[in-house]
Amino acid sequence: MQDNAAEQARIANVHPPGWENPRAKDRYHMVVVGGGTGGLVTAAIAAGLGATTALIERHWMGGDCLNVGCVPSKALLRAARAWHAAATAHERFGGPAVAGQRDFAAAMRRMRQIRADISGLDSASRFRDLGVDVFFGEARFTGVDTIAVDGQDLCFRSAVIATGTRPAIPPIPGLAESGFLTNETIFSLAEVPRRLAVIGGGPIGCELAQAFARFGSAVTVMEQGDTLLGKDDPEAAGVVSAALARDGVRLLTNTTMERVDGTNPVVLHVTRNGRSEQVEADAILVASGRVPNVEDLGLDAAGVGFDERRVITDDRLRTSNRRVFAVGDITARAPFTHAADAHARMVVQNALFFGRKKVTDLVIPWCTYTQPELAHVGMKWEAVNAGGDEFEAVTIPLHDVDRARLDGDDEGFLRVHLRKGSDRIAAATLVADHAGDIIAQLSMAMQQGLGLSAIGAAIFPYPTHAEVLRKAADAWRKRKLTPRVLGLFRFFFRIVR
Ligand SMILES: Cc1cc2nc3c(=O)[nH]c(=O)nc-3n(C[C@H](O)[C@H](O)[C@H](O)COP(=O)(O)OP(=O)(O)OC[C@H]3O[C@@H](n4cnc5c(N)ncnc54)[C@H](O)[C@@H]3O)c2cc1C
Repeated sequence: MQDNAAEQARIANVHPPGWENPRAKDRYHMVVVGGGTGGLVTAAIAAGLGATTALIERHWMGGDCLNVGCVPSKALLRAARAWHAAATAHERFGGPAVAGQRDFAAAMRRMRQIRADISGLDSASRFRDLGVDVFFGEARFTGVDTIAVDGQDLCFRSAVIATGTRPAIPPIPGLAESGFLTNETIFSLAEVPRRLAVIGGGPIGCELAQAFARFGSAVTVMEQGDTLLGKDDPEAAGVVSAALARDGVRLLTNTTMERVDGTNPVVLHVTRNGRSEQVEADAILVASGRVPNVEDLGLDAAGVGFDERRVITDDRLRTSNRRVFAVGDITARAPFTHAADAHARMVVQNALFFGRKKVTDLVIPWCTYTQPELAHVGMKWEAVNAGGDEFEAVTIPLHDVDRARLDGDDEGFLRVHLRKGSDRIAAATLVADHAGDIIAQLSMAMQQGLGLSAIGAAIFPYPTHAEVLRKAADAWRKRKLTPRVLGLFRFFFRIVR
């Protein structure tokens, strides 16, 4: 009942029943297609600056992040973490042994309530009050400067495409017939599946695998690559894999899906390291990539180039139509909410004020919110590895950080790649509790052109997890103490005796 109320409150915000689209103005300075993070931030800033602005959303304001992405997943991860802490309190800290009732419905209720509460910020009425003309309906370009929605034509000076992505469904024989979950449906589950098979070991697959394992599912993750989290430093991904394995997740890497049979249970036929195997499950979660929402957008009519992965943009996020820009996941540049937000801030200047902001100047970190978290900023690790001698690495094991030991979360490490001979940060990977929060300090340093020694000059409260940063700076400083410099110091102390 209360759950229903939360859902109704969210829907009243993100797609109010009975909403009447406004009458289109003769011409808009800015028309934004898609009401996820990228579209909402673009529209709010443009309208705030006085530009006549329209926003078109076909489904839910807030897009993936609010409704079926970051928000519900992080709420469930938090609940799963609490369950796990309770279940391990005795063995880890001598606390009371807990063997109580598990209430998945309560965890889902909490998630829905928080999601409903947060949805007010993305609501259609709030955006209308900000001065944005909010249209619900399918947007379709009808020319180089017109978009049709709900029987009206919107004429624009600039337009921004922010239509995001949706789950890619792999062409596995039998999968459709057996049925599967995606991020669009898993947050509506009423019960924990007894056995959950996750196809895809990327961030979404890993986060949800850990959450559901902690809720009591027997989870198997199937990944075609040879590690989970294939975009990250393999050693860091290995720490996350070990944590998942400790939570009881079965990890099948180098695994190709052959076919799926049955409905209840389902049987997944896979080939693993060249051998056939079968995995039985009660539910399948597909988390094996994303495809762009470009169909039916009329991009050809607008002269906007696209391919199977994205709307193609230049360094200033402009498409092949000079009036039309794109932001967020649809650009396939960095599929994160904070990236969509950063794109949006940039694109308003580029589209409305002849700005020359470049997307490649942005420093965009990312984080997978498993426990421990895995965060990264800067160049991709393959590029750093390929760079060989151009970089030098400083690695601090978390075991050297008192707070990590005190909390019992000392698996993991910080690795900072510096440009050889300087303290300029090229990339950093941190696998640790709260890694996402801590990496933000490195992001800030990189964006401001500060080096590792500037971080080391700051005073960190003791004991904190963030001290790992100062330790990295100390380690780098110590390295500069070459035998020659040390010799000079020794000589100095001899003469001042
Ligand atoms: C399970 C999951 C967890 C995630 N967790 C995180 C996280 O912790 N941190 C993080 O940074 N990122 C996370 N992400 C990624 C994040 O959700 C996306 O990067 C973000 O939502 C991108 O915003 P966007 O505006 O580009 O697109 P979207 O949020 O996808 O919004 C696009 C909008 O466009 C609308 N639309 C599409 N086509 C049309 C059309 N023709 N006409 C009108 N409207 C249209 C859609 O309905 C949608 O509302 C997660 C994603 C998932 C799936």
